Amino acid sequence: MDREPLEFVNVAVRIKPLTDSENASKCLQIISQNPPVLFLPERPLTFNFDHVYSEGATQKTIFEQMVKPFVKYVRQGYNCTVFANGQTGTGKTYTIGTDPYVKNEEDFGLIPRTLNEFFEYRDDDDSEVEISLSFIEIYNEKVFDLLLNDKPEDKPLQVKGLKAQGFCQERVYNSQEAKHFLKIGNKNRHTAETKQNAKSSRSHAIFTIYCNVKHKDNNTTSAKLNLVDLAGSESIKKTGNQGSTFQEGVNINRGLLSIGQVMTALSTNASHIPYRQSIITSILKDSLNTHNYVSLIACVSSLAEDSTETSQTLEFAQRVK
Ligand code: ADP
Ligand code: MG
Repeated sequence: MDREPLEFVNVAVRIKPLTDSENASKCLQIISQNPPVLFLPERPLTFNFDHVYSEGATQKTIFEQMVKPFVKYVRQGYNCTVFANGQTGTGKTYTIGTDPYVKNEEDFGLIPRTLNEFFEYRDDDDSEVEISLSFIEIYNEKVFDLLLNDKPEDKPLQVKGLKAQGFCQERVYNSQEAKHFLKIGNKNRHTAETKQNAKSSRSHAIFTIYCNVKHKDNNTTSAKLNLVDLAGSESIKKTGNQGSTFQEGVNINRGLLSIGQVMTALSTNASHIPYRQSIITSILKDSLNTHNYVSLIACVSSLAEDSTETSQTLEFAQRVK
């Protein structure tokens, strides 16, 4: 099947709206939207991305520009991945949409919108479509199946040759059923307290939609779309982690670091792609190569006090590009 002429990786920055209690001393300026250029006056640094979403950008716009085309590509057989990264509290989970209890439709994140799109999508070319889901978490370089009902945090999955073995893949027939599994997974999500955000997630969560299509010409294609809510990228010092959480912090950063290294190796056509450096890159290996499609949404705060974290998030995103 012909591949659409889209670049392998699309990188966006999303600036979180300030809350009423935050004072408006800002560290970010949007220099232009076309092409998107961001300026960090304190450093001073200038960044170029595919999209810069200002505070007012809607969930719908981000879905339509960063993810919606992927539904078609997955149905054509290409694996696709969407990452949200950034400091805790900047809107990664809001953007990816793992929370099944969001009330207002305009706040629905990428997961429910993508599921709807998969179930509503019609194509002349296909006769049968099967959708299934998995939802896993990587915490401290261990893999947990969030769709297991009984205390998944006690039972990390077996990892063989850096491949996690046997997580559930649940067949679903409509958005309601999919939401049911999102609820189970969300309840099971492993969190540890940090100073910055009591409920901050210190893990990477990967929600995957698998799609098998039987086409009219009797060909079949199988591909998947990964929606990845990465762990907070803030430094260990800032969150006040100590003791066992120190190793945790190191491992979280190992995952982030290796995603950056894999993407850089791919964009420079390196002969060796370091997939085996972390569990998350091993698991995503068959989705992270130049025959696939990747969107990265770097979530940032525009507050002056967050400028160090913001510049790190932007530098990461720039490296991936
Ligand atoms: P993270 O997952 O990066 O730690 P969250 O997604 O939990 O951050 O966001 C922190 C808080 O800010 C949540 O209450 C979330 O609903 C809110 N929030 C984040 N981004 C937006 C946005 N663009 N519009 C409205 N609320 C947002
Ligand atoms: Mg979160």
